[in-house]
Amino acid sequence: APAPPPARHLFSDPAEVEALRRNLLAWYDRCKRDLPWRALVRGDIGKQGPALLPAVWVSEIMLQQTQVATVIDYYTRWMQKWPTLQALAQASLEEVNELWAGLGYYSRGKRLQEAARKVVSELAGRMPRRAEELQKLLPGVGRYTAGAIASISYGQATGVVDGNVIRVLCRLRCIGADSSSPAVIDQLWDMANVLVDRSRPGDFNQALMELGATVCVPKSPLCGECPVKQHCQAWRRKLFGKAPPVPDVEDCGVGDCPLCPPATEPWDSSLGVTNFPRKAAKKPPRAMRTATCVLERRGCHGAPEYLIVQRPSSGLLAGLWEFPSVPLAQDLQEEKEREELADHLQAWMGQPVAAKGLRFIGEVIHIFSHIHQTYVVYSLHLDGDVTLDPALSPSRWVTEDEFHASAVSTAMKKV
Ligand code: SF4
Repeated sequence: APAPPPARHLFSDPAEVEALRRNLLAWYDRCKRDLPWRALVRGDIGKQGPALLPAVWVSEIMLQQTQVATVIDYYTRWMQKWPTLQALAQASLEEVNELWAGLGYYSRGKRLQEAARKVVSELAGRMPRRAEELQKLLPGVGRYTAGAIASISYGQATGVVDGNVIRVLCRLRCIGADSSSPAVIDQLWDMANVLVDRSRPGDFNQALMELGATVCVPKSPLCGECPVKQHCQAWRRKLFGKAPPVPDVEDCGVGDCPLCPPATEPWDSSLGVTNFPRKAAKKPPRAMRTATCVLERRGCHGAPEYLIVQRPSSGLLAGLWEFPSVPLAQDLQEEKEREELADHLQAWMGQPVAAKGLRFIGEVIHIFSHIHQTYVVYSLHLDGDVTLDPALSPSRWVTEDEFHASAVSTAMKKV
């Protein structure tokens, strides 16, 4: 078995753990932000009627890749529309996508709804309450979300590790090895489970995340105001200019400690506490080009209408609507790009489309998490009507207002 990490990277003193919990919770009680999901205590044990949708489940899924300020409005509309598991289970994917439009990472909404359906149809409407069951039984619920729901909604004393917690814990314990590596992540989960307060686990977890979001921020942390600075090894190291004097520090930081920064990247005093955490360099996003055409016709009331078509039900932006689009090979000549788009449109409309008739509008760049997408945008005005091929994906003509109310991605709104 691998040797346990040196004490400097652990919380092995029960008195220190107690003090840290006390200080952090006292700060949280004083300073926590007023967020809508915190106002709803949704543990519905013993209540009559349909089971309520745990507020923290919805907010945590929305917050996975999105800022709090953006999430609040989506969260509020979602909970008004589907306050119970039953209501969400009965929603259509189209309704879910419409409400989610603009929030990004659309599979999150889809899986939330699938999970609600599963609870209603396979688990007799009973929401699992333990982290292990939540993770095992519900689609889209990973280890972090399971821990958050179990601790915040149902009071289980289990820790959570998200990006904010990673940063705080790495600083508290000077962990400078790659924080995305499985060995470090495992260590952080162990640490979160040791630290979590047994009587207020949900508040403790929220406090740790809140500290990372508001005080122990990535670039200029407010260490002077930090409620746990007396427990923070990175802070002490910054103050004293060297590793803090703990008994077994000699066996640590000499090149073979699995949690210290690699010997080739030692402590940089100009960075202070932001020496931690460290991550291996990310792969650059993949570049993609897509030709897209805004097809316009005059609607029956004289207002312009635009054709949108539905994307396949799996993959990127599954089930969302978009202007007819076709992926392009890299480095195609402009003329060739037009021809590809014209061929694609012809398949939709069942009639020839002259590549020269397509008017080039411009390029729109949109960054998905792993894709750097360039949309090459054209437009085409249709004089007469066209009959769209019903054998192809669903399609419809929409006014500008209808377009904005449809389940379309932010990228298409930019187009
Ligand atoms: Fe983060 Fe600074 Fe607090 Fe340490 S003292 S936990 S680095 S804010």
